[in-house]
Amino acid sequence: MITNHPPTAELQAIDAAHHMHPFTAGAELAQKGARIIKSAKGLTLTDTEGHQILDAMAGLWCVNIGYGWDSIADVAARQMKELPYYNTFFQTSHVPVIALSQKLAEMAPGDLNHVFYASGGSDANDTNVRLVRHYWAAKGKPEKKVIISRENAYHGSTMAGASLGGMQPMHAQGGLPIADIVHIGQPNWYAEGGEMTPEEFGLARARELEAKIAELGEDKVAAFIAEPIQGAGGVIIPPATYWPEIQRICDAHEILLIADEVICGFGRTGKMFGSETYDIRPHIMTVAKGLSSGYAPIGASIVCDEVANTVAEAGDFNHGYTYSGHPVSCAVALENLRILEEEQMVENVASVTGPYLKEKWEQLADHPLIGEAQIQGFMASVAMTPDKAARAPFAADKGTVGLICRGHCFDNNLIMRHVGDRMIIAPPLLMTRADVDSLMDRAVKALDLTLAEIRDKGLYA
Ligand code: PLP
Repeated sequence: MITNHPPTAELQAIDAAHHMHPFTAGAELAQKGARIIKSAKGLTLTDTEGHQILDAMAGLWCVNIGYGWDSIADVAARQMKELPYYNTFFQTSHVPVIALSQKLAEMAPGDLNHVFYASGGSDANDTNVRLVRHYWAAKGKPEKKVIISRENAYHGSTMAGASLGGMQPMHAQGGLPIADIVHIGQPNWYAEGGEMTPEEFGLARARELEAKIAELGEDKVAAFIAEPIQGAGGVIIPPATYWPEIQRICDAHEILLIADEVICGFGRTGKMFGSETYDIRPHIMTVAKGLSSGYAPIGASIVCDEVANTVAEAGDFNHGYTYSGHPVSCAVALENLRILEEEQMVENVASVTGPYLKEKWEQLADHPLIGEAQIQGFMASVAMTPDKAARAPFAADKGTVGLICRGHCFDNNLIMRHVGDRMIIAPPLLMTRADVDSLMDRAVKALDLTLAEIRDKGLYA
């Protein structure tokens, strides 16, 4: 903890001069200066100017249990004193990584009984790429190596993670995607469904997977990867027909299914895992974020018996990170999971505060600026539009209106994120009804101010 620091303006200048921020235009940062967060408790952040900000994004969708749990700090300090670091390479292990692996095997659905650790979601997805290709090679099918993903997916920022992702601005930087990763359409009915019903569109988009497998040849395809609900793509909740059809296709064509649960895992959708909400039976689940609620960096691939046993029998899996199974992160994750369960936070999402948030959030669809309000558990989005009936995007640059709205949220001490012209939330899971009221008041005010501003600017007829 740094208690003695320069005043905000000076911190901002130093930050802009020396800190390269992810996903941030450096010149704009230098001009505006960062908002500097100093402390946090529950749902509330405090910045260096003393503003109290309601964090409706749980950091980066990760602080599932909320900020400020002392017992996590105590566990981390004890673990640092006892064993701050040891690796899990070759034939070494330690108590926290063993206990966490047992816990995750108990929690994860089906026979997902084996855990390979990373430091976050991106590198866990890199592991998945190597793991599924290695698995098929061990089965005598080395040519089965293509991984099918989806446009507008987000699977991380490493070379493999960003290649699995389907975000064009990311592919445009660094020569992506890497070889043998291909993409099909996303189940975003609002933006791309045209005249189809959501159910028809869900089936059509799922069947693109079957068409892609036929085009490439079943003997070439290793796996399909997808988020149960696309998060960073804008909280795109798939039509009800989508996942059952995807599951059928993976089963029918001997394709491994990877559920990227980095956002959906650990309660966000109202069940422990998004795979349970949508009845998906993955061979591998990617987890991170809510695994430690962001209190320490950790990610993992949770792997089914068949894949893990095949790989184990094939000899060394030549893959691992210095921080795979870091003891402090594992101890923190265990304490986080204890709190998540003891405080019944998943139940809170499913049946206590969750239904109230759903009722309030869906009312946003009546706002003149909103074309669609989607919510599942504690992840939700609204699509802003100049023409509700046509589900039309704004003529202004994609994201202009979203940025305006995000600014009004910020000015009203609310963190909502914008993805193009969608506004999204993923708040900590301990929200109460009073927190929901406060969030909704600020969100509606921000939408009203956005509408007034874009009318003034001629962006809304
Ligand atoms: N996968 C999904 C679904 C994510 O949302 C993210 C991050 O937002 C990642 C992977 C990457 O995780 P990390 O940022 O921990 O590397």
